[in-house]
Amino acid sequence: MAKQTIDDRLARLQDGRCPIHGRAMTQVAPWRIEKGRPVTIAACSCGIAAKEYEPFGPAELVLAFRHLISPARFARKAVA
Ligand SMILES: [Zn+2]
Repeated sequence: MAKQTIDDRLARLQDGRCPIHGRAMTQVAPWRIEKGRPVTIAACSCGIAAKEYEPFGPAELVLAFRHLISPARFARKAVA
């Protein structure tokens, strides 16, 4: 597989896709209201999960997976 960049991953998330696999993520939680707007959780079959604020909308990684798009972590991994 070609080397992934943070931008690749962010582009996939923007499409509501898994940042690593590029597969569409499936809604895994009911819609609820958070800070006045609807939100749900979508996940890839690999377990990576993200918040979505509209169906098939841009996804925002939940805290546990935020390191996947962290420049600092990414840099360290790339050197290793
Ligand atoms: Zn995945």
